[in-house]
Amino acid sequence: MGNAVEQLALVKARIAAAERQADREASAASLVAVSKTFDTETIRPVIKAGQRVFGENRVQEAQGKWPALKVEFPDIELHLIGPLQSNKAKEAVALFDVIETVDREKIAAELAKEMARQGRALRLYVQVNTGSEPQKAGIDPKDAVAFVKRCREAHGLAIEGLMCIPPAEENPGPHFALLEKLAREASVGKLSMGMSGDYELAIAFGATSVRVGSAIFGSR
Ligand SMILES: *Cc1c(COP(=O)(O)O)cnc(C)c1O
Repeated sequence: MGNAVEQLALVKARIAAAERQADREASAASLVAVSKTFDTETIRPVIKAGQRVFGENRVQEAQGKWPALKVEFPDIELHLIGPLQSNKAKEAVALFDVIETVDREKIAAELAKEMARQGRALRLYVQVNTGSEPQKAGIDPKDAVAFVKRCREAHGLAIEGLMCIPPAEENPGPHFALLEKLAREASVGKLSMGMSGDYELAIAFGATSVRVGSAIFGSR
């Protein structure tokens, strides 16, 4: 495997090919480069190669590397793609631009409060546990549409999309299809789905963003 900058170019070319294959417009699916566990020195060349959207799964780890990188590159867009504890909402709202893991009432309420307090409007996704896996974060599919409605009506949150992480051992296609159906029912336009092993398939199922880590940065 080549270095991260070469891998980035390869992933972008594959995304473009998958968009064409699916008869979708060029750039219909944006790339969130997942940089968790990788340090600033590994990430910086990828930013310099033009990538601006990154994903991290832990608030504390992200706080250790992204504030300085955001000063250096002010147009970075940082996504939280891991579970959020309510006692970290304040830090998360201050650092991230997009939170993809809203999955319960308490987090929705905390985020609404912190965004108002800090005067920041983050873009938000609801995470759906499409496989109803007991150990996995995300709202159960049967509750997802009502939860999006409550986020909007009870908490005033503008939910822009849905996100899922299909069960590791299953064919992801049916999970991507379920997320797409729930998004239509909930009237949200964005779909965050697909990782290193299945991002091209996710694009065929309508992903508007794919979260790719190891295919760019190497194994963790
Ligand atoms: C780590 C992670 C990814 C990226 O996984 P890869 O298989 O390395 O591409 C995507 N989404 C979430 C939520 C993750 O935690």
